[in-house]
Amino acid sequence: MTATIPSTTAEIIGRVPTDLFIDGRWVPAASGATFAVDNPATEETLTHVADGDATDARRALQTAVDHQAAWAATSPRSRSEILYRAYQLIIDRTDEIAAVMTAEMGKPLPEARGEVAYGAEFFRWFAEEAVRIGGDHTITGDGANRIVVTRQPVGPCILVTPWNFPLAMGTRKIGPAIAAGCTMVFKPAELTPLTALLLTDILREAGLPDGVLNVVTTSDPGTVVGEWMTSGRARKVSFTGSTEVGKLLLGQAAGSVMRTSMELGGNAPFIVCADADVDRAVDGIMVAKMRNMGQACTAANRIFVHRSVIDDFTDELAARMTGLVVGDGSADGTQVGPLVEAKAADKVAGLVDDAVGHGARIVCGGRRPAGAGHFYPPTVLTDVHPGAELMHTEIFGPVAAIIPFGGPDSDGLDEAIALANDTPWGLVGYAYTQDLDRADRLSTELQVGMVGINTGLVSNPAAPFGGVKESGLGREGGRLGIEEFLDVKYVARPIRTS
Ligand code: NAD
Repeated sequence: MTATIPSTTAEIIGRVPTDLFIDGRWVPAASGATFAVDNPATEETLTHVADGDATDARRALQTAVDHQAAWAATSPRSRSEILYRAYQLIIDRTDEIAAVMTAEMGKPLPEARGEVAYGAEFFRWFAEEAVRIGGDHTITGDGANRIVVTRQPVGPCILVTPWNFPLAMGTRKIGPAIAAGCTMVFKPAELTPLTALLLTDILREAGLPDGVLNVVTTSDPGTVVGEWMTSGRARKVSFTGSTEVGKLLLGQAAGSVMRTSMELGGNAPFIVCADADVDRAVDGIMVAKMRNMGQACTAANRIFVHRSVIDDFTDELAARMTGLVVGDGSADGTQVGPLVEAKAADKVAGLVDDAVGHGARIVCGGRRPAGAGHFYPPTVLTDVHPGAELMHTEIFGPVAAIIPFGGPDSDGLDEAIALANDTPWGLVGYAYTQDLDRADRLSTELQVGMVGINTGLVSNPAAPFGGVKESGLGREGGRLGIEEFLDVKYVARPIRTS
């Protein structure tokens, strides 16, 4: 179907490169194949992009390998300046990037602009980190030797990103890889290749040397990424996506003992204690639940609310959710866009039906609208049973599932923490309380990589983002982010005594 999107967005989409990017040039797939990129709000096709295969993958990786030594030898300051320039270009082109992002994945334009600011900030952060790669110098206990600890780029990296934050998930990996001096092969998600291709063009414009970043879009990720993973020539894989694919890549990485960073799925608990400021907690859940229409690894998946405040919390949340404007993310005033694809909307509908089958009550929403687009309405469920499937899987949609805890004689904290930790995932947990001791206990005992106390947002380029348990390995952003792309080397040197 031909797109009937507004001409300005159509013009912007028309300017986005649609080929593969290898050795500093835009090239079609070796096979000449392309695949369609659709708008989830209208179900219309926006454009087609190159459909890379194993041949393209090999060429891209060979290029990254060939350029690694020269790139590693560049000065930290020159790499830093490329990142600063790219940061500024992204900011200057905010509206254009946001329009592309909204068209291909659905989030409302204000959220897309927010992601542009967030995503760009990783480049500014790692521009600052590029010139601060440190080392260490000590003397052995017997005084006979120097220990000189240095850091070197790990080598050619495989970067694989999901569709839900099409810009930021790319900059969070490309930024530190550039800063550290690593060359890259990059495969963005097949649902959202356009934002990644626009980002690639910005890096080219910012002066990134040929061959440092090589991008292969494909409708067959298993083949392209599999080619890279089993080549024995990449030294690192940085993956953001589902735990299922992450486990597959970890298995492949074992073949060449490749370094891995894994940012995987979550099942975030959101705990509202008896002493919580309920208004603030509702503000927090609106962010933790509704950012990106609930399609975030950090999305609050299980909302545990103390029985003494559950009615106030539920009523206020339902009022806020009912008042949200659902529609095409590119339209003025839209607050909730479509889900990314039909499969996603079907999954959310199935989870709600299953929860209702287990005794949950629908307070608002729960009914899919007719017509084009993969829409699902903001929905609040209460009395959710621990056996319901949505307690054990990422909802990835605008559905708030409320579970009561505690009672008149109990703050229920033991129960809430036990329920929160009863999952194989451990990315983030949120808690609302005004009691310092409770906040301390929750911060310590939640089995997660990140905790939000009285806030529904933990993502920040200056913070180490990442999870424990099946939510992943390693950290992105913050002071630790660049370490993922550096190997430590220690040099022993005798100290001359004469
Ligand atoms: P996904 O795992 O299906 O896809 C992620 C990427 O992996 C895509 O680029 C995809 O093409 C690629 N891929 C798919 N199959 C592959 C295979 N066999 N071999 C190699 N690559 C393959 O995940 P998604 O649906 O794009 O994203 C949603 C998931 O990502 C959720 O689970 C979410 O929690 C997670 N996520 C995690 C973080 C985090 O930082 N922890 C951030 C965003 C999203």
